[in-house]
Amino acid sequence: MNESQPLAHLDGSQGEGGGQILRTALALAAVTGRGVRIENIRAQRKNPGLARQHLCAVQAVAQVCRARVQGARLRSRWLEFIPGKPQAGEYRFDIGTAGSTTLVLQSVLPPLLLAAGASRVEISGGTHNPMAPPFEFLKETFAPALARTLGRLDLELLRPGFYPAGGGRIRALIRPSSPGPGIDWTEPVEARVLRAEVLLARLPQHVATRELAVLRRMLDLHQEQLHVLQRQDTGPGNAVLVHVQAGPVQEVFAGFGQRGKPAEQVAEEVAEQVRAFVEAGVPVGPYLADQLLVPLALLGRGAFLTTRPTLHTRTNAEVIRRFLPVEFTFQEQPASGRWKVEVTASREA
Ligand code: ATP
Repeated sequence: MNESQPLAHLDGSQGEGGGQILRTALALAAVTGRGVRIENIRAQRKNPGLARQHLCAVQAVAQVCRARVQGARLRSRWLEFIPGKPQAGEYRFDIGTAGSTTLVLQSVLPPLLLAAGASRVEISGGTHNPMAPPFEFLKETFAPALARTLGRLDLELLRPGFYPAGGGRIRALIRPSSPGPGIDWTEPVEARVLRAEVLLARLPQHVATRELAVLRRMLDLHQEQLHVLQRQDTGPGNAVLVHVQAGPVQEVFAGFGQRGKPAEQVAEEVAEQVRAFVEAGVPVGPYLADQLLVPLALLGRGAFLTTRPTLHTRTNAEVIRRFLPVEFTFQEQPASGRWKVEVTASREA
């Protein structure tokens, strides 16, 4: 740890008040060597404190950077994290529930992208969870964007895991590189739907048929654009994924089947998200927007057009500014529903 810097003190109830504050803080503490104390962890959630997925993220980042940690217990609402130097290597993390593997990966990714050498990380848990990036989003949307900043992320879905059964596994190969060209995606785009996929694991075929019928009607798709992927080795579970080409970005929008929720409704909700995104004519969707901020801040520059920034995005920017010498601007583009988000090195840096 960098002894000359005092601990950063973060209030986990600020803004969105969820797990992302913790993950971004852990990742950037590990990258900068600055210790952090976080209070009120996930205060705005109905099950506050560290859930399994968050505890696994704490332990994972601690292992990657040999950190000293206090408060790392299930349901703990505070944490003190004193990082050492991140080490490339082979890591395996097991969440132990259906908690999101992709979110755990989010927290170890920045330190491993800046470590000396490649790393291989395997994480067990959920791979298709509500309120988290589905595996396909990470692979098709996030990883190509990341390749323009700090390095390569190659991903393999070893087995899907759905909430609440879990049992999924992903493998990530992380290869640091010299800084890439960066991201300057500031022109409006004409977005178009590429395809829709329904993932179905140990559930009746009619679930997929009903979902695809809704997507076909609402998004005006042809039969060749509709796909069903069946798995018998996991589940039960159901995810709806719609791939959209938006200029330089392939966005993936997702919805998840839930007991008691009609298949039609799952598909309708995804289709609504896709329509709003296509209509906005921006390259970056609301989730990619919040997830791009860390890599762009580490690169020290970048700009993109997106839809109205979410509270997640604004909160993430606030947390990042506590660790890195960068500024964020959020600028509404007149009468268009588009916003330009820009990351710049701060002047006092
Ligand atoms: P909690 O808030 O309960 O702690 P959490 O740990 O899942 O939950 P959040 O702070 O809600 O954390 O962060 C969720 C993250 O998942 C955000 O980075 C968000 O962009 C991402 N995300 C959520 N849904 C999707 C989706 N459909 N596609 C891509 N990314 C998503």
